[in-house]
Amino acid sequence: MANLRFQALQSLQNEEKIVSGYSEKKITTMFGSNVFTGRAMRESLSDEAYKSLMNSAKSGQRIERRIADQVAVGMKAWAEERGVTHFTHWFQPLTGTTAEKHDSFFTIKSDGSAIELFDGEALIQQEPDASSFPNGGIRATFEARGYTAWDPSSPAFIMEAGSGKTLCIPTIFIAYNGESLDHKAPLLKSIAALDKAAVDVCHYFDKNVTKVTATLGWEQEYFVVDEALANARPDLMMCGRTLLGHGPAKGQQLEDHYFGSIPERVYAFMQDFEQESYKLGIPLRTRHNEVAPSQFECAPMFEEVNIAVDHNTLLMDVMTKVAKRHKLKALMHEKPFAGVNGSGKHNNWSLATDTGVNLLSPGKTPRTNLMFLTFFVNTIKAVHDHADLLRGAIASANNDHRLGANEAPPAIISVYLGKYLTQVLDEVESRVKEKFTEQDEVILKLDIHKQLPEVLMDNTDRNRTSPFAFTGNKFEFRAVGSSANCGSPMVVLNTIMTDTLRKFKKEVDTLIEKGEKKEIAVLQILRSYITESKKIRFEGDNYSAEWAEEAARRGLNNFKTTPEALDAYVTDKSKQLFFDNGIFSKRELEARHEIMLEDYVKKVQIEARIIGYLATNHILPAAIEYQNTMITNVKGLKEIGLDESGYKAQLNLVKVMSNHIQHINDNVETMIQARKDANNIDDMHHRALAYCHKVKPYFDTIRYHADKLELIVDDKLWPLPKYRELLFMR
Ligand code: ADP
Ligand code: MG
Repeated sequence: MANLRFQALQSLQNEEKIVSGYSEKKITTMFGSNVFTGRAMRESLSDEAYKSLMNSAKSGQRIERRIADQVAVGMKAWAEERGVTHFTHWFQPLTGTTAEKHDSFFTIKSDGSAIELFDGEALIQQEPDASSFPNGGIRATFEARGYTAWDPSSPAFIMEAGSGKTLCIPTIFIAYNGESLDHKAPLLKSIAALDKAAVDVCHYFDKNVTKVTATLGWEQEYFVVDEALANARPDLMMCGRTLLGHGPAKGQQLEDHYFGSIPERVYAFMQDFEQESYKLGIPLRTRHNEVAPSQFECAPMFEEVNIAVDHNTLLMDVMTKVAKRHKLKALMHEKPFAGVNGSGKHNNWSLATDTGVNLLSPGKTPRTNLMFLTFFVNTIKAVHDHADLLRGAIASANNDHRLGANEAPPAIISVYLGKYLTQVLDEVESRVKEKFTEQDEVILKLDIHKQLPEVLMDNTDRNRTSPFAFTGNKFEFRAVGSSANCGSPMVVLNTIMTDTLRKFKKEVDTLIEKGEKKEIAVLQILRSYITESKKIRFEGDNYSAEWAEEAARRGLNNFKTTPEALDAYVTDKSKQLFFDNGIFSKRELEARHEIMLEDYVKKVQIEARIIGYLATNHILPAAIEYQNTMITNVKGLKEIGLDESGYKAQLNLVKVMSNHIQHINDNVETMIQARKDANNIDDMHHRALAYCHKVKPYFDTIRYHADKLELIVDDKLWPLPKYRELLFMR
């Protein structure tokens, strides 16, 4: 029987052109058609329910049970009209995916009659059997109760899968005592905290602002490979990345993929998942090829951060499902293939007021410029003070392959401002002195005003190597991993910004109380922040070795691995920060830290098992089979009377292969022992360190020898689809 690889290659040749389910409908006709929002809500709800829901979505206030009952009735009617039979509380547990537990509307009354029911209680709260979600010790097994609770600020939606349709209610996931077990609960808290802190600071400049919203526009990178080929690779199937595989002769060196046209089969897939996304209200806008072969990107218009995070997790889910229809596999992994670029998820972040102002967009008047500068400098200060936490927020086993690999920003956090804003900050720093008069202030403001319009034109001069870059009207956090839930980095960013703004307000108020004029007080504190946060600013090439040295001299940390980077979550400083701003209790933080470490351990453990299995059960048998052919050949040549010069090459190959086979075998054995030793360590932090430094290093050694064998063994015998097939065949 031909091995799976050849069956897959065969099926790829025979595959009929897959036609997308794309309809000619205008995007505006289908946009949001599966979302319970706007018009759907208006039409299905009473005035009272509609107003309460809108108000709650805006203010985060609780919804009364009576109103919830009304909303549930309206929601159910709307959903049933669209063929929905089941509902689920949809949430984002810390395992990185989304979770659903479907319940039917169908129920039996006490008199035995069957009805369809969905009331306020079912809408508001549910108790999934949640003992199997990670909880970092928060929820002892005897009280294995977790609750999902409705998040009215994110609209319910209908998920279609095959012919089934499910009403999905976005929820938070919390333990019985209210401690958070998911990504959304802390995100909502950080949004509310930032709103309050930012509004308070806005009031120095504009009393009309009553709400500030954090906005997020993510860019999602991903790979697409043929499903049959992917299925023939246990590593891609189980780990989302290839653990073995020699690089193809042609990779991304010609840079022809980025500018090339989108391959037809992938294009059909894109159209299809875009259409599904539009129905779900995900405002996708761009699609293009990325740098590596078979790598692509999509990005939506930015949205309020809670909705944007929901939409990103939904999109990853939709892409995975729709890819199957096209017999493709969408890989969100940060590094599916060695030797070509990995995938990231840029998080564009900004702050918007309810008066329609983007607080990170240079102002139109000298007065609004000062408001912009305030939020701009506070962001830099926040990143400076909590750089390690931002690094921790993007740490994962997957992202370790990417950060610092000269294709993604390094593990060193720094901020890029661009030429003009660097000049502006320099001016503020040098001109705002202890004696700083009202006249000085007016002149400075005017001078700044003259410079700022240039910032927007400076937009093209972007530094693509910076992990945290200002891009004209927002900051772009580029080091986030492609498979990550953007909730984590957004919680950290919102929280450190909240904390910085609150301290800023306190300091400015103190100066004002001492009799300083408001705007002078603001400038004085900004000047001190500019001075204090200088070391986090870097305009040069973040990929260069000089920067790593320079950063070390500056005292910036460079945590290369996840177990080390995650420590930032549990320092006294971080515990205080999250506690002071009402995001996490100390216990919640410790639990989260433990969950993230455990996730790391499990990922590396699974990879270790798979690489051992692949090497032993796939690579060695193929190598030995080929070696046997070679041995027979040598024997035969000898038999017919050739001397050694007649079979030197074959004999040498036999020896070379023996060497690789031996190394693979030995290293797999010692790796298994290292794994056993690591598993015996009770402390999760130390176990993670053991997996990182004692187990993982074997991967490279085993891979080296396996990849060498790939270059030797007869192509017909090789069991795993090769890189050139995975990356170039569709
Ligand atoms: P590009 O970087 O491709 O030139 P843009 O600057 O318009 O394009 O946008 C890049 C990304 O930044 C998009 O995903 C977009 O949604 C996001 N974005 C734009 N403005 C904001 C904002 N104010 N807040 C958050 N994200 C934004
Ligand atoms: Mg990009």
